[in-house]
Amino acid sequence: MRGRAVMLSGRVLLAAWRPGLGRQRARSALAQLNAVLEAELESIRNAGTWKNERIITSRQGPHINVQGSEGAILNFCANNYLGLSSHPAVVQSGIEALDQYGAGLSSVRFICGTQNLHKNLEAKIAKFHQREDAILYASCFDANTGIFEALLTPEDALLSDELNHASIIDGVRLCKANKYRYKHMDLADLEAKLQEAQKHRIRLIVTDGVFSMDGDVAPLKEICDLSDKYHALVFIDECHATGFLGPNGRGTDELLGVMDRVHIVNSTLGKALGGAAGGYTTGPKAVVDLLRQRSRPYLFSNTLPPPVVGCASKALDLLMDNNDIAHTMASKVNRFRSQMTAAGFSIGGMDHPICPVMLGDARLASAMAEDMLQRGIYVIGFSFPVVPKGKARIRVQISASHSDQDINRCVQAFLEVGRKHGVIP
Ligand SMILES: *Cc1c(COP(=O)(O)O)cnc(C)c1O
Repeated sequence: MRGRAVMLSGRVLLAAWRPGLGRQRARSALAQLNAVLEAELESIRNAGTWKNERIITSRQGPHINVQGSEGAILNFCANNYLGLSSHPAVVQSGIEALDQYGAGLSSVRFICGTQNLHKNLEAKIAKFHQREDAILYASCFDANTGIFEALLTPEDALLSDELNHASIIDGVRLCKANKYRYKHMDLADLEAKLQEAQKHRIRLIVTDGVFSMDGDVAPLKEICDLSDKYHALVFIDECHATGFLGPNGRGTDELLGVMDRVHIVNSTLGKALGGAAGGYTTGPKAVVDLLRQRSRPYLFSNTLPPPVVGCASKALDLLMDNNDIAHTMASKVNRFRSQMTAAGFSIGGMDHPICPVMLGDARLASAMAEDMLQRGIYVIGFSFPVVPKGKARIRVQISASHSDQDINRCVQAFLEVGRKHGVIP
């Protein structure tokens, strides 16, 4: 049988027939792949954009231990805006959920993966955002890649800010609607695109509430005015806003007084809301209902693990109890921004805990970040292609869990390092 197959179809089967030769071919294919990848890796190193991961040996928090550095490091680069990722009540709630509901569901939601715990968290999210309903995903990345394709067809149009998060860009790619990319926060350009898009059935404006590289806040009131004028809908990604922007931490829409005018909100449980993992969409019931039927990352990926749900659920309880944490954070942000500005640094963004210390030069940003770490302060330099050429910066992220003293120490280190590099007098 084997011999006959070899005679019929020649070289490929011959390889299978002689195992030694098959292995040799597999090795040579792998050698080819390795050569291609090594060249690619080398080009990343040469471009100076290689990303090294520092290894943390403690819990996430304002004070962490980092492998290779002596003693505690002051951490200013997590999205742990409210300090909830190691909050005792949040951790305890995760443990209780693990105990009661187990490690995980080994199933997607619609087969046998929905527990009352998940339904309760969805109800809580909808209540927090004052929307009709909510649906959980394994991440906000999934929520963003799953929504547009499910909701919109080639009859419809998407209008997306050019600096939206990578996951929105991927979600837009997967969607078959007509696509318009407007200039970053440029209302005139958005209006021009809305006029062009009048010929389509549904128009959905898509923007980050807060843009993570600059800490700048989308002009939602004006965007909602345009959406009214051109009969459009508004979607916002609130990953860098949920839990702490606005008087009660509801987000950018609360901050700008448009909670009842923004139609759909996507956000993450992996930043301010306990920091474990998970994302969601909240908005009109029909939207959520359709996502449960059609959204691929929801339909074909495992249910969020109970301990993760338990942590996020407690984080929301804490925020709905009172708004003290959100206020504490605002005062910390103000402290850092005003001291740094007084010292002569240029800080980008608007009153947001993302505080980009603008430096311009890529090597300067990375050298200063290194010198900060020498002084026990962990901050990250960002340069092209993550941010535009010539706009390198060190991004500092303030958390409600930083003490005033932590912030003073950070500013003091910036003063020393900034003088050393001639950035400030
Ligand atoms: C972090 C982030 C995401 C992804 O959230 P995950 O839950 O970590 O997948 C999506 N959008 C924006 C704007 C983000 O900052």
